[in-house]
Amino acid sequence: MTFARRTNWLKRAALAPFSRTRYAGSDVWLTFDDGPHPEHTPAVLDRLAVFDVRAAFFLVGKRIADPALVKRITAAGHTLGNHTFAHTVPRWRDIREPRADVRKCQTLVPGATLFRPPLGKLRPGSWFAAKRLGLECVNWSLDSGDWQCRSEADAIQCAREVLELVRPGDIVLFHDDHRWIAPILDVVLPALAAHQTFPKTRSTTQHPRT
Ligand SMILES: [Zn+2]
Repeated sequence: MTFARRTNWLKRAALAPFSRTRYAGSDVWLTFDDGPHPEHTPAVLDRLAVFDVRAAFFLVGKRIADPALVKRITAAGHTLGNHTFAHTVPRWRDIREPRADVRKCQTLVPGATLFRPPLGKLRPGSWFAAKRLGLECVNWSLDSGDWQCRSEADAIQCAREVLELVRPGDIVLFHDDHRWIAPILDVVLPALAAHQTFPKTRSTTQHPRT
């Protein structure tokens, strides 16, 4: 089974005018979708703190049970992203529904400056909604495939594949709502910290520009 995969260059090129898929210079930007999770998000935060890495967390509004956890993410210097309230992919023609969905999430995550559509499927309605809120659309260039992990062995293999494929300027997609993210990061973070540059300062992560 293969976990990690790069986004096809054609898809990246097609998305580029609407959604960022690369990070500045030689930095590798780690991004976490589908949280916050009461158990696994703190485990991710602990690991990032060890290596002084700033990442981005794209939160799903309906999963925010404890606002204190959102505050903890911000206090650690990470960037917040809006990942919609309901985490559903709207139809191409829908404008009103995705607008309400993105706005509802933003009321729960008022500090969000980024937007990522569910499953990375950017639709006109979500794009307009994000633009109106002043959110920057961010997708990814390397999908870790971490959500498919079912065992420790899977986690190790997934981490190795990420390390094999990752290149300077990549935006890497992870998810902080499953138990295998911690063992994956235990392999990925030390290796990347040794060989790559992570975005570290608050000013860089809060206003990332290519
Ligand atoms: Zn998602």
